[in-house]
Amino acid sequence: MTIEKILVTGGAGFIGSAVIRYLLRETGVEIVNLDKLTYAANPAALEGAERNRRYRFEQADIADGAAMRAILAKHRPDAILHLAAETHVDRSIDGPADFVQTNIVGTYVLLEAARDYWTSLPPEAAEHFRFHHVSTDEVFGSLGADGAFTEATPYRPSSPYSASKAASDHLVGAWHATFGLPIVSSNCSNNYGPWQFPEKFIPLMVVKAARGEPMPVYGKGENVRDWLHVDDHARALWLILTRGRLGESYNVGGRGERRNLEVVETICGIMDEMVPGRAHRPLLSFVADRPGHDLRYAVDFSKLSAELGWQPRESFESGLRSTVRWYLDHRDWWDAIGHYRQTRLGAVKAAS
Ligand code: NAD
Repeated sequence: MTIEKILVTGGAGFIGSAVIRYLLRETGVEIVNLDKLTYAANPAALEGAERNRRYRFEQADIADGAAMRAILAKHRPDAILHLAAETHVDRSIDGPADFVQTNIVGTYVLLEAARDYWTSLPPEAAEHFRFHHVSTDEVFGSLGADGAFTEATPYRPSSPYSASKAASDHLVGAWHATFGLPIVSSNCSNNYGPWQFPEKFIPLMVVKAARGEPMPVYGKGENVRDWLHVDDHARALWLILTRGRLGESYNVGGRGERRNLEVVETICGIMDEMVPGRAHRPLLSFVADRPGHDLRYAVDFSKLSAELGWQPRESFESGLRSTVRWYLDHRDWWDAIGHYRQTRLGAVKAAS
């Protein structure tokens, strides 16, 4: 199927901006970036895109149905790649309301606008239309020491964030089963790379180390995540959108399982090399664990690999090294983001 124009929601975010850079570089597709520009948006990550005649930007909230209908009618995309979301687990513990509003209500409103738009399309365009919902492996809950999530793993979300993403996944599945909306979806493991908001684990550690401040590790640093470079995710998303089977979901993972402590220690080693003159390991500081902290995630992406031939290309070692380099070279960007201030988020005890 040929996609000539794509609407990307959340395109000013960490993954969305990587996808847009990928699409501008590797494809001829026209792109409409629809983003509310919350605190997490990074317009700087799309510098230069405004000058590309294939790129358009619309500032809007996915929970605004009238705006969604107007934008779809105006741009008439062949596909929607839906990434817009509230994404920080710790913030979802301190204030779940925004997560319910954007991730659940917003996805519902967008689905309804997409359904209206899709039913108004001529038959051939309607047949080729796709709605790709982007989600997380966190919907599956926590693993023990062994095994990996497959597409058939039951949903057991632990945090308000993962519960809101799980709800949105179910809505998308239901809009396909009930209304026939042509959807594909994907659940990906933890991403890392340039332009990630510095409240997230890897950039937070690099920023803290660069400032010579304590690097806060939750609990004993035993939690395991399966790290994937954001550019590998961007490539997977385009492949799934253009070639994934209708109604199917695909897991995306990095084969990059690491304990948090290992990641932080590796960052310290890289920082020692790149910023000589100070040992960074002594900055490590163990803090109270996140309530409901899932122990281990690992993703089995054999379906994506067998059906669409996708494999991660970046190794965690080289990807982490280039990411640390990138943050050290972009200090102006993260220094200017004053409002995240890196106070401890998400430490609230559950109500008894
Ligand atoms: P991000 O927080 O960096 O960016 C989210 C973007 O969505 C921001 O630009 C923000 O302005 C926009 N947005 C938020 N609420 C909106 C609304 N109501 N209307 C319109 N735009 C809105 O997030 P990210 O890390 O790039 O994640 C993108 C998507 O990928 C999310 O759906 C997330 O659940 C999923 N995901 C992320 C990861 C990861 O490791 N970061 C892993 C798997 C899946």
